[in-house]
Amino acid sequence: MANRRYWNEAMETIDAAELWRLEDERLRWQLRWIWEHSPFYRQKFAEAGIDPLSIGRDSLYRLPFTVKEEVRRTQEEYPPLGGHACVPLEEVVRIHASSGTTGKPTLVGLTEADARMWNEILARFLWATGVRPGTRVWLSVTLGWYIAGLSFYEALRQIRATVYPAGTMEATRTFNVVRRAGVDYMISSPTFVNYLTNVARERLGIDPGSLGLKAMALGGEPGAGVPQIRQQIEETWRCKVYDAMGTADFAPILWTECEAQAGMHFIGQGFVIAEFIDPETGQSIEPKEGLLAELVYTAIQRECVPLIRFRIGDLVRIEGTGKCECGRTGIRIRCVGRVDDMFIVRGVNVFPSAVADVIASFRPRVTGEFQIRLPPRGLPIEPPVPVIVELGPEPGDLHRLKRDLEEAIRSQLIFRAVVQLVPKGELSPTGTMKRQVILREER
Ligand SMILES: [Zn+2]
Repeated sequence: MANRRYWNEAMETIDAAELWRLEDERLRWQLRWIWEHSPFYRQKFAEAGIDPLSIGRDSLYRLPFTVKEEVRRTQEEYPPLGGHACVPLEEVVRIHASSGTTGKPTLVGLTEADARMWNEILARFLWATGVRPGTRVWLSVTLGWYIAGLSFYEALRQIRATVYPAGTMEATRTFNVVRRAGVDYMISSPTFVNYLTNVARERLGIDPGSLGLKAMALGGEPGAGVPQIRQQIEETWRCKVYDAMGTADFAPILWTECEAQAGMHFIGQGFVIAEFIDPETGQSIEPKEGLLAELVYTAIQRECVPLIRFRIGDLVRIEGTGKCECGRTGIRIRCVGRVDDMFIVRGVNVFPSAVADVIASFRPRVTGEFQIRLPPRGLPIEPPVPVIVELGPEPGDLHRLKRDLEEAIRSQLIFRAVVQLVPKGELSPTGTMKRQVILREER
């Protein structure tokens, strides 16, 4: 088993025509399943005047989009899982809850078959990033309501890796165990890894690079795909950093880098259809290298809470559509950011991940931690935009640093910022999985 190159060669190297046929067959099954069991979709399709049983892969684009707000609303109308839930609660083996940006979490249910599907996709991801039987894996994500922790644990058991269920608490104990038992691989988020770096160096006097990690896979936010942030983590921990991405509504991971690291491969073949649309017009677009597109997902083998043409809100750049040097055929992307996080300054679109990249290029004059202050949503953003930047271990002349940062933002990102420097530690990660880099003023 350990010698095979892919977890699932047939699916991960499938050719486009064969994948299309498989997607067509499973989409038809899924739409019939939904038609028979989901009050939410029966009503939605009826209102759109569409017979879902007439739809196949070629005509998928005719179905209306589903958005997160509809999921939230239907969960209130049909508690607890919503009107898109297609099975009775006693067939649900696990319920997860998303953190939710508005405070009220949305719930995600899995049947036994859905849980097996997640195991399969996650095993493809873990295998592609180097996990094998016996690999010592530091599972450094929240274990609990969050979809990732338990799901990774199940998939790691399936591969027969050696799991360290560290979670995100008790960092001191974790470092103690990891140093005694040795470690090969870590799963976490960029923000949490930065937190661990600070704990190791400043509280425990440990060099993270001395632990012997060979690789880490980071998701939950775009950081691992941002060149400066990836480089910083790789240098600090002296290991390879893989970028991966998923979503609570479909699977904890649907995209992962392989050893070639030429973008994240789609690895949900047979379970999810990934479509690309123009974020402004909503029109489907044919994936081509270099294009910027918004992701849309459709479940095609989900029993519990299938979603059709779900606008997940991730903007991506298409990195490659052909076969990769690793042999996988899954289309390759990089995440640019959340549509919701993008802000516009006098007609220029700005993503926090791009600001992060520019600021991190100033290390060690800065730590790389920063915050952007914006007016309430809906109000125009007038330059200069306040950007708060944390001083690093070797800041040098502060007036010059401020001027250099403002100049780099203006020339590379084409907007005017006013930089405010704050002491080291003021913006440090506090042990959460994600960081909040945009602060919006209250109305
Ligand atoms: Zn590849």
